[in-house]
Amino acid sequence: MVLKMAELLIEDLHVEIEGKKILKGINLRFPQGEVHAIMGPNATGKSTLAYTLMGHPRYNVLRGDILFDGKSILPLSPDRRANVGIFLAFQNPVAIPGVTVANFIRTAINSHRKAQDSSAKGIPIPQFRKLMLEKMELLQIDSSMGGRYLNDGFSGGEKKRVEILQMAMLQPRMAILDETDSGLDIDALRIIAEGIEVLKSPNLGILIITHYQRILNYLKPDVVHIMVDGQIVESGSSDLASKLEQEGYDWVKGENGRRQI
Ligand code: ADP
Ligand code: MG
Repeated sequence: MVLKMAELLIEDLHVEIEGKKILKGINLRFPQGEVHAIMGPNATGKSTLAYTLMGHPRYNVLRGDILFDGKSILPLSPDRRANVGIFLAFQNPVAIPGVTVANFIRTAINSHRKAQDSSAKGIPIPQFRKLMLEKMELLQIDSSMGGRYLNDGFSGGEKKRVEILQMAMLQPRMAILDETDSGLDIDALRIIAEGIEVLKSPNLGILIITHYQRILNYLKPDVVHIMVDGQIVESGSSDLASKLEQEGYDWVKGENGRRQI
């Protein structure tokens, strides 16, 4: 069987929150199998884009569309978006004391299975354990992590590691990773970069959203987009990141329209 390649297409997307217009006409195409990065200064709407892609109810789409596999996902609830294979790692993941990492992930997998087939049974525990141990080994995560309460007292790096583990276990087709812009140390960046390298596959599209160019020292995305004031002002190869490192964002600000490198 030949599986159709998925693609996430964002067309002329305008989004407001609480009456304030944040995204002002975003056009982007993310094919499965590629790694893209969106970079930009703080408060330009990067997280707004991530939440809008996941269907957060506070973000109001004024115009435009988001298509996945050629179909609009705008009518879908966040749950249904997850079930068609879109995964969002939050910028600030919440702690859930009382729920272990393993239980959280197993519940999510079972909910996906149910969505695909309402008569599906939950993943058998031995199969789940085997899969989880495999992925933990692949991502060099200590197996004791599975028994800890989700994000409860986790360091920044541990939170990121567990996000990557969730991604590995849920096997989404499109993953959106909204990074913490501050407080991520070099180790946390390296963990994300290594995890992404390990999980890269023709069946997975990855969109990394970040304020920092540092992660791109560890990872070469296929395409880098620069967002300023709710618009994509540049798209190009990962060389764009080096330019940002040397010149900051000033050179892209105040440009009219979008230049191609
Ligand atoms: P970034 O992720 O690029 O730093 P955000 O998408 O978080 O940017 O924010 C873009 C703009 O939207 C900012 O000016 C921010 O203050 C505003 N914003 C974000 N969330 C809310 C909210 N819940 N209520 C009002 N304004 C918000
Ligand atoms: Mg943000």
